[in-house]
Amino acid sequence: MSDSIAATVIDCLEFARSGGVLERSVGLDELPRLADLLSTTDGCLSVRLEGWRDDEGKSWLQLDIAGEPVLCCQRCLGGVKFPLVIRSRLQLMAPGEDWPDGDLEDDSADAIAAEAALSVLALVEDEVLLALPIAPRHEQCESPSASVTGHGSSPFAALADLKKH
Ligand SMILES: [Zn+2]
Repeated sequence: MSDSIAATVIDCLEFARSGGVLERSVGLDELPRLADLLSTTDGCLSVRLEGWRDDEGKSWLQLDIAGEPVLCCQRCLGGVKFPLVIRSRLQLMAPGEDWPDGDLEDDSADAIAAEAALSVLALVEDEVLLALPIAPRHEQCESPSASVTGHGSSPFAALADLKKH
């Protein structure tokens, strides 16, 4: 299906020049690099990508991502909902263009290479991975007795079990 996010590739500069807007719902099961962090791949994220050129001729993308993935609590391995709200501004750097030194004027923006065939899914996945906590935990685990010790020697064995379902 050509409409699938996995197949969606944009020419960054063209997308910005034409004021492109793309809105998609992305299933968590379409983001394989997230799988190790998730308690379940059910559910989806709302994604909106917008491009424009500013008065100085700089090209920009803004990526908004929202959803509530369920991560694995690092203490009890239960599911812990993580409200995710991301807004990233990306300045597109054309080939040969000088990259901003060190900090951009605006801290909230990053610079990326203006690829002619950027995978929207890979961009979404990168941004989500950056935003997720490294060690998610419940504030208070519901059943501390159901600890990792019940799952054999390694917490990773238990994670592997969870992923099978
Ligand atoms: Zn927990």
